[in-house]
Amino acid sequence: MPRYQEPAFVLKRWDLGESDQLVSFLSFGRGKVKGIAKGAKRSKKRFGGLLSPFLLVQIDYFENPNRDLVRIEGCGLIHYYAPIYGDLEKLLIGCCALEFLERVLPERGELEEWFSLLASCLGWLSRPAEAGPALWVFFAKALHLFGVQPQFGKCIHCRRPLGPSGLFGFSVPHGGAVCGACIKQGTATHRAGSDTLSLLDKWAGMPFEEGILLASGGDKRLGEAEKILEAFLVYHVGREFRSLRVMREVLEERRKAKGER
Ligand SMILES: [Zn+2]
Repeated sequence: MPRYQEPAFVLKRWDLGESDQLVSFLSFGRGKVKGIAKGAKRSKKRFGGLLSPFLLVQIDYFENPNRDLVRIEGCGLIHYYAPIYGDLEKLLIGCCALEFLERVLPERGELEEWFSLLASCLGWLSRPAEAGPALWVFFAKALHLFGVQPQFGKCIHCRRPLGPSGLFGFSVPHGGAVCGACIKQGTATHRAGSDTLSLLDKWAGMPFEEGILLASGGDKRLGEAEKILEAFLVYHVGREFRSLRVMREVLEERRKAKGER
Protein backbone atom coordinates (compact mmCIF):
# COMPACT_ATOMS: atom_id res chain seq x y z
CA MET A 1 0.00 0.00 0.00
CA PRO A 2 1.57 3.33 -1.00
CA ARG A 3 2.03 5.84 1.77
CA TYR A 4 1.73 9.60 1.22
CA GLN A 5 2.59 12.63 3.31
CA GLU A 6 1.15 15.77 1.83
CA PRO A 7 0.10 19.30 2.71
CA ALA A 8 -3.69 19.40 2.81
CA PHE A 9 -6.74 21.39 3.84
CA VAL A 10 -9.59 19.58 5.57
CA LEU A 11 -12.80 20.31 3.65
CA LYS A 12 -15.25 18.39 5.80
CA ARG A 13 -15.33 15.72 8.48
CA TRP A 14 -17.97 13.41 9.83
CA ASP A 15 -17.95 11.54 13.14
CA LEU A 16 -17.99 7.76 12.87
CA GLY A 17 -19.01 6.12 16.12
CA GLU A 18 -17.27 6.95 19.37
CA SER A 19 -13.79 7.77 18.18
CA ASP A 20 -13.29 7.63 14.38
CA GLN A 21 -13.77 10.29 11.74
CA LEU A 22 -14.38 10.32 8.02
CA VAL A 23 -12.40 13.20 6.54
CA SER A 24 -12.51 14.83 3.12
CA PHE A 25 -9.37 16.82 2.36
CA LEU A 26 -7.79 18.71 -0.50
CA SER A 27 -4.17 17.66 -0.81
CA PHE A 28 -1.59 19.45 -2.87
CA GLY A 29 -0.41 16.49 -4.91
CA ARG A 30 -3.35 14.11 -5.15
CA GLY A 31 -6.37 16.38 -5.14
CA LYS A 32 -9.49 15.70 -3.12
CA VAL A 33 -9.21 12.56 -1.03
CA LYS A 34 -11.51 10.93 1.52
CA GLY A 35 -10.27 8.76 4.32
CA ILE A 36 -10.90 7.24 7.70
CA ALA A 37 -8.96 8.52 10.69
CA LYS A 38 -9.25 5.78 13.30
CA GLY A 39 -9.20 7.13 16.83
CA ALA A 40 -9.09 10.73 15.60
CA LYS A 41 -11.38 11.92 18.37
CA ARG A 42 -9.21 10.36 21.06
CA SER A 43 -5.60 10.25 19.90
CA LYS A 44 -3.95 13.57 20.66
CA LYS A 45 -0.57 12.13 19.79
CA ARG A 46 -1.45 11.17 16.21
CA PHE A 47 -4.01 13.83 15.33
CA GLY A 48 -3.94 16.49 18.04
CA GLY A 49 -7.32 17.82 16.94
CA LEU A 50 -5.70 19.01 13.73
CA LEU A 51 -8.16 17.41 11.33
CA SER A 52 -10.08 20.68 11.36
CA PRO A 53 -11.04 23.46 8.95
CA PHE A 54 -8.79 26.48 8.39
CA LEU A 55 -5.55 24.67 9.11
CA LEU A 56 -2.90 23.67 6.62
CA VAL A 57 -1.70 20.28 7.81
CA GLN A 58 0.66 17.57 6.71
CA ILE A 59 -1.53 14.49 6.34
CA ASP A 60 0.03 11.07 6.51
CA TYR A 61 -2.04 8.33 4.88
CA PHE A 62 -2.02 4.93 3.23
CA GLU A 63 -3.87 4.29 0.01
CA ASN A 64 -5.23 0.87 -0.87
CA PRO A 65 -5.70 0.75 -4.67
CA ASN A 66 -8.78 -1.45 -4.20
CA ARG A 67 -10.58 0.96 -1.89
CA ASP A 68 -12.00 4.46 -2.30
CA LEU A 69 -11.16 5.54 1.24
CA VAL A 70 -7.59 6.01 2.39
CA ARG A 71 -6.36 5.27 5.92
CA ILE A 72 -5.21 8.41 7.68
CA GLU A 73 -2.39 7.68 10.11
CA GLY A 74 -1.72 11.10 11.53
CA CYS A 75 -1.20 14.76 10.80
CA GLY A 76 0.98 17.68 11.79
CA LEU A 77 0.41 21.40 11.73
CA ILE A 78 1.93 23.51 8.95
CA HIS A 79 -0.10 26.70 9.35
CA TYR A 80 -3.05 27.79 11.45
CA TYR A 81 -5.28 30.47 9.95
CA ALA A 82 -6.25 31.48 13.47
CA PRO A 83 -7.72 34.95 12.80
CA ILE A 84 -10.55 33.38 10.78
CA TYR A 85 -11.99 31.92 13.97
CA GLY A 86 -12.06 35.35 15.56
CA ASP A 87 -14.23 37.03 12.94
CA LEU A 88 -17.75 35.76 12.28
CA GLU A 89 -18.00 37.07 8.71
CA LYS A 90 -14.64 35.57 7.75
CA LEU A 91 -15.56 32.28 9.37
CA LEU A 92 -18.79 32.13 7.35
CA ILE A 93 -16.97 33.02 4.12
CA GLY A 94 -14.43 30.29 4.79
CA CYS A 95 -17.23 27.78 5.40
CA CYS A 96 -18.82 28.73 2.05
CA ALA A 97 -15.52 28.17 0.24
CA LEU A 98 -15.00 24.76 1.89
CA GLU A 99 -18.56 23.62 1.18
CA PHE A 100 -18.21 24.63 -2.46
CA LEU A 101 -14.95 22.69 -2.89
CA GLU A 102 -16.28 19.63 -1.11
CA ARG A 103 -19.34 19.74 -3.35
CA VAL A 104 -17.81 20.32 -6.79
CA LEU A 105 -14.32 18.87 -6.84
CA PRO A 106 -13.87 15.36 -8.22
CA GLU A 107 -11.98 12.85 -6.11
CA ARG A 108 -8.29 12.57 -7.00
CA GLY A 109 -6.82 14.43 -9.94
CA GLU A 110 -4.50 17.35 -10.43
CA LEU A 111 -6.03 20.09 -8.36
CA GLU A 112 -2.99 22.23 -7.51
CA GLU A 113 -4.69 25.39 -8.80
CA TRP A 114 -7.68 24.73 -6.56
CA PHE A 115 -5.33 24.17 -3.63
CA SER A 116 -3.63 27.50 -4.38
CA LEU A 117 -6.98 29.28 -4.71
CA LEU A 118 -8.09 28.04 -1.29
CA ALA A 119 -4.71 28.97 0.23
CA SER A 120 -5.05 32.50 -1.21
CA CYS A 121 -8.58 32.86 0.13
CA LEU A 122 -7.72 31.64 3.64
CA GLY A 123 -4.55 33.76 3.60
CA TRP A 124 -6.56 36.87 2.82
CA LEU A 125 -9.15 36.08 5.49
CA SER A 126 -6.36 35.79 8.05
CA ARG A 127 -5.18 39.32 7.45
CA PRO A 128 -6.13 42.16 9.77
CA ALA A 129 -8.30 43.69 7.06
CA GLU A 130 -11.92 43.66 6.00
CA ALA A 131 -12.99 40.46 4.30
CA GLY A 132 -14.16 42.55 1.35
CA PRO A 133 -15.44 40.62 -1.67
CA ALA A 134 -13.20 37.62 -0.84
CA LEU A 135 -15.98 35.07 -1.32
CA TRP A 136 -17.03 36.50 -4.68
CA VAL A 137 -13.50 36.69 -6.02
CA PHE A 138 -13.12 33.08 -4.86
CA PHE A 139 -16.27 32.04 -6.74
CA ALA A 140 -15.34 33.97 -9.90
CA LYS A 141 -11.95 32.27 -10.00
CA ALA A 142 -13.47 28.90 -9.09
CA LEU A 143 -15.87 29.11 -12.05
CA HIS A 144 -12.88 29.80 -14.27
CA LEU A 145 -11.08 26.71 -12.96
CA PHE A 146 -14.28 24.71 -13.20
CA GLY A 147 -14.37 25.41 -16.93
CA VAL A 148 -17.69 27.23 -16.93
CA GLN A 149 -16.29 30.74 -17.07
CA PRO A 150 -19.07 33.05 -18.32
CA GLN A 151 -18.41 35.20 -21.38
CA PHE A 152 -18.40 38.93 -20.72
CA GLY A 153 -16.72 40.73 -23.64
CA LYS A 154 -19.34 40.01 -26.31
CA CYS A 155 -23.07 39.49 -26.31
CA ILE A 156 -23.73 35.79 -25.87
CA HIS A 157 -26.52 35.95 -28.48
CA CYS A 158 -25.57 38.33 -31.30
CA ARG A 159 -21.78 38.22 -30.65
CA ARG A 160 -21.47 42.00 -30.88
CA PRO A 161 -18.81 43.48 -28.54
CA LEU A 162 -20.28 45.26 -25.54
CA GLY A 163 -19.63 48.98 -25.33
CA PRO A 164 -17.53 50.55 -22.59
CA SER A 165 -20.57 51.86 -20.70
CA GLY A 166 -24.28 51.33 -20.35
CA LEU A 167 -26.73 48.86 -18.90
CA PHE A 168 -26.43 45.36 -20.17
CA GLY A 169 -27.69 42.01 -19.01
CA PHE A 170 -26.51 38.55 -18.11
CA SER A 171 -28.09 35.25 -19.05
CA VAL A 172 -27.49 32.49 -16.51
CA PRO A 173 -28.55 29.56 -18.75
CA HIS A 174 -26.59 30.89 -21.73
CA GLY A 175 -23.58 31.76 -19.59
CA GLY A 176 -22.75 35.25 -20.70
CA ALA A 177 -23.41 38.93 -21.13
CA VAL A 178 -26.39 40.17 -23.12
CA CYS A 179 -26.29 43.43 -25.09
CA GLY A 180 -28.90 46.17 -24.85
CA ALA A 181 -30.66 45.07 -28.05
CA CYS A 182 -30.92 41.43 -26.98
CA ILE A 183 -32.17 42.38 -23.51
CA LYS A 184 -35.33 43.63 -25.19
CA GLN A 185 -35.95 40.12 -26.43
CA GLY A 186 -36.19 38.97 -22.85
CA THR A 187 -33.18 36.67 -22.83
CA ALA A 188 -31.36 38.16 -19.83
CA THR A 189 -31.93 36.80 -16.32
CA HIS A 190 -30.12 39.76 -14.68
CA ARG A 191 -29.50 43.40 -15.46
CA ALA A 192 -25.92 44.59 -14.98
CA GLY A 193 -23.83 47.64 -15.73
CA SER A 194 -20.87 47.23 -18.05
CA ASP A 195 -18.61 48.03 -15.11
CA THR A 196 -20.03 45.06 -13.16
CA LEU A 197 -19.47 42.68 -16.07
CA SER A 198 -15.96 44.03 -16.46
CA LEU A 199 -15.31 43.45 -12.74
CA LEU A 200 -16.47 39.82 -12.97
CA ASP A 201 -14.26 39.28 -16.01
CA LYS A 202 -11.20 40.72 -14.27
CA TRP A 203 -11.77 38.74 -11.07
CA ALA A 204 -11.64 35.47 -12.98
CA GLY A 205 -8.29 36.19 -14.56
CA MET A 206 -6.24 38.12 -12.03
CA PRO A 207 -4.42 37.12 -8.82
CA PHE A 208 -6.75 36.72 -5.84
CA GLU A 209 -5.50 39.66 -3.78
CA GLU A 210 -5.52 42.07 -6.71
CA GLY A 211 -9.09 41.05 -7.42
CA ILE A 212 -10.16 41.95 -3.89
CA LEU A 213 -8.55 45.36 -4.12
CA LEU A 214 -10.59 46.16 -7.24
CA ALA A 215 -13.76 46.57 -5.20
CA SER A 216 -14.32 47.55 -1.59
CA GLY A 217 -17.39 47.70 0.65
CA GLY A 218 -20.12 50.01 -0.61
CA ASP A 219 -19.10 49.53 -4.26
CA LYS A 220 -22.35 49.45 -6.22
CA ARG A 221 -21.01 46.80 -8.57
CA LEU A 222 -20.77 44.25 -5.76
CA GLY A 223 -24.52 43.75 -5.35
CA GLU A 224 -24.99 42.97 -9.05
CA ALA A 225 -21.85 40.85 -9.20
CA GLU A 226 -22.91 38.72 -6.19
CA LYS A 227 -26.38 38.03 -7.61
CA ILE A 228 -24.98 36.98 -10.99
CA LEU A 229 -22.28 34.76 -9.52
CA GLU A 230 -24.60 33.05 -7.06
CA ALA A 231 -27.26 32.35 -9.71
CA PHE A 232 -24.62 31.02 -12.08
CA LEU A 233 -23.11 28.77 -9.41
CA VAL A 234 -26.44 27.35 -8.34
CA TYR A 235 -27.35 26.75 -12.00
CA HIS A 236 -24.20 24.72 -12.59
CA VAL A 237 -24.00 22.94 -9.26
CA GLY A 238 -27.69 22.12 -9.22
CA ARG A 239 -28.74 23.33 -5.80
CA GLU A 240 -28.20 26.15 -3.36
CA PHE A 241 -25.32 26.29 -0.93
CA ARG A 242 -26.34 25.84 2.66
CA SER A 243 -23.34 27.81 3.96
CA LEU A 244 -24.22 30.75 1.73
CA ARG A 245 -27.78 30.85 3.04
CA VAL A 246 -26.56 30.59 6.64
CA MET A 247 -24.02 33.37 6.02
CA ARG A 248 -26.70 35.69 4.66
CA GLU A 249 -29.06 34.96 7.56
CA VAL A 250 -26.42 35.43 10.25
CA LEU A 251 -25.02 38.64 8.78
CA GLU A 252 -28.53 40.04 8.31
CA GLU A 253 -29.33 39.30 11.97
CA ARG A 254 -26.10 40.98 12.99
CA ARG A 255 -26.92 44.08 10.96
CA LYS A 256 -30.37 44.25 12.55
CA ALA A 257 -28.88 43.86 16.00
CA LYS A 258 -26.53 46.75 15.31
CA GLY A 259 -29.44 48.85 14.10
CA GLU A 260 -28.08 49.05 10.55
CA ARG A 261 -30.41 48.92 7.58
ZN1 LIG B 1 -26.88 40.97 -28.45
